[in-house]
Amino acid sequence: MTSEFEIIQRHFNKKTKHTILGIGDDAAIIKVQKNYEMVISSDMLVENIHFLKKTDPSHLGWKSLAVNLSDIASMGAKAKWATLSISLPKPDQIWLKKFSQGFFKCAEKFGIDLIGGDTTKGPLTISITIMGEIAKGQSLLRSGAKINDDIWVTGQLGNASMGLTNLQGKIKLTPQLKTKCIKALEIPMPKVLFGLHLSKFAHSCIDISDGLIQDLGHIIKNSKKGATIFLNQIPCDDFIKTSKKYHFALNGGDDYELLFTAPLKNRAHIEKIAKETNTKISMIGSISNQRSIKIVNENGKLLSFSSKGFDHFA
Ligand code: ADP
Ligand code: MG
Repeated sequence: MTSEFEIIQRHFNKKTKHTILGIGDDAAIIKVQKNYEMVISSDMLVENIHFLKKTDPSHLGWKSLAVNLSDIASMGAKAKWATLSISLPKPDQIWLKKFSQGFFKCAEKFGIDLIGGDTTKGPLTISITIMGEIAKGQSLLRSGAKINDDIWVTGQLGNASMGLTNLQGKIKLTPQLKTKCIKALEIPMPKVLFGLHLSKFAHSCIDISDGLIQDLGHIIKNSKKGATIFLNQIPCDDFIKTSKKYHFALNGGDDYELLFTAPLKNRAHIEKIAKETNTKISMIGSISNQRSIKIVNENGKLLSFSSKGFDHFA
């Protein structure tokens, strides 16, 4: 029988790079820079709710950390530490090896120390808490949007939800598009470097995990503003445009792109940091004073749409 301690030792206890005390004691110790604030977020992934049973464990390891990194990136902060709590039906060494390889691939790419966690028996659930730093008062909040701000998004929207819909057998995709969409779903790339540079130039930011409309809804609600979005400026695959399946880009979950608002005067700065960090960005609309989201087509015609993104209890 494998013990909890052997699992931790074999798969999760890796040398840390910027931590005073990592795994092995009752608690970890970290040092925060002077004049900085800590930024902390948790995300939980539950089998059959957040991922399908047959998901490649190395992809799952990557994704479980990547989605947490995305939250810290959207605050404009630098992620540095993570804890990993995992409940497993059985100590499957092959599964654990692959999972931890995927996890540490992501951790090493983005400079994260794994500093603790918990390991228990139970239905497969992965819960990560991520901690980062930012200079005092510099965090990007959902509440910061100002009237006439440009609304921007990184990357392309809708691919991950098309991937999931395809795996569920509800949509047919060409092999090439399928590969792209499954990659978006299972190995999302959090916009870490771009987020880090954004705090100087943006007024507000959120990461898109539950669909553009729902997450933009959080920005306008918290900022007490409205938004106008130009449908033809939303970055998405040509398949979505030609088949008019815009719901993937508007309401599909799991994109982990950044949605942010910034004053017009910062356009050149934003384009510069996008170029420097090799990040695709698109301006999709602007903030208004109308307290609702309007979507218009290229002729300025108002479109009706469903505002439902993903909600676990809806
Ligand atoms: P305790 O009984 O005090 O909760 P544990 O035996 O659960 O301690 O954990 C021992 C050490 O291993 C602690 O440092 C804890 O943070 C760490 N740890 C436990 N599970 C994990 C995990 N899945 N990933 C990383 N660290 C873990
Ligand atoms: Mg414990």
